[in-house]
Amino acid sequence: MCAIASKMRDRSKGHTVSFSPKVFLPLTQLCRDFCGYCAYRQTPRQVRQPYMSPEEVLETARVGENLGCKEALFVLGERPEERYFEARHWLRDRGYESSIEYLCQMCALVIRETSLYPHSNPGTLTYRELQALKEVNASLGLMLENTSLRLCGPRGPHEWAPSKHPHKRMETLRLAGELKIPFTTGVLVGIGETAAELVESFEAIRNLQEEYGHIQEVIVQNFRPKPDTPMEHAVEATEAETLRTVAVARIILGDKMNIQVPPNLFATGNSRSYRVFLNAGINDLGGISPATIDYVNPEAPWPRIAFLKEEMKALGYELRPRFPVYPEYLFKESGYLCTTLRNRLIADADKEGYVRQ
Ligand code: SF4
Repeated sequence: MCAIASKMRDRSKGHTVSFSPKVFLPLTQLCRDFCGYCAYRQTPRQVRQPYMSPEEVLETARVGENLGCKEALFVLGERPEERYFEARHWLRDRGYESSIEYLCQMCALVIRETSLYPHSNPGTLTYRELQALKEVNASLGLMLENTSLRLCGPRGPHEWAPSKHPHKRMETLRLAGELKIPFTTGVLVGIGETAAELVESFEAIRNLQEEYGHIQEVIVQNFRPKPDTPMEHAVEATEAETLRTVAVARIILGDKMNIQVPPNLFATGNSRSYRVFLNAGINDLGGISPATIDYVNPEAPWPRIAFLKEEMKALGYELRPRFPVYPEYLFKESGYLCTTLRNRLIADADKEGYVRQ
């Protein structure tokens, strides 16, 4: 399967492997939901304030900008204002009705004040919220995780996370398709799913892509057990299982799909096994930050970009920085990006749509 998958990747992507130089902005770590594996989620008592202030957003964005980043990755828990009065009050005191409204303003601030391009992951979204976010984001993201309803059942990892109900997530992905928003999604491997459920999840993503054409990238992310979470003793997927999943993803999703494995999740100790995923058909290493930690997997540092470049070269691949929107969508005329962002991106890109070096 790996041989087939890697041939498929070579046919469409050649020997280019991309990554997005990014800065990570955890706009809020509060969340309405409880996922069994999540260590990103915090309670109001654990945080200094419910949301990053505009000053903090700008300060962090500028650090990234100075280090050559292009993506401002905004990550949020799911609608914390629905659970915590601290979040509600913080927003209302500043004139915002919701986290999404505040997020829109922060994306606009970053666009206005820096050369970065926002990519937001704020959870499930309504049609109107997607419409508003499209104006101030180069692309948006929502992990499908898995289409399995079983995982939302008793003792499943998503039992207490209504936003992880696959129908809700598929609905956000579908609405984003209607609105022509370049979209990143993916699966989480090792949270109790079966191999058949992974296949079904990739098929669901492929069907969306066939209908709307807006899925720019699929992430195959392996679950890692975190201390002090309900799943801290769960057994994570082995490298071989993840390798098989990546190959299956490429075979189901086809030559053209951009498939990513985050390199920091496979770079523990001396092991840099992310390299093996090239053999299973990946063509992207995702967002890598020279400025901030991975707040979702804080124990896993990103490899240095210069080092990755050398490694890829030794394996016969060229590592190229991309924007949070893939080149395919940058040059599409049919309304995938708002005009202002598109013009700015095109001015910033080389003729193939990668970051001009
Ligand atoms: S994974 Fe996302 S939705 Fe689930 S608890 Fe963590 S922040 Fe909330």
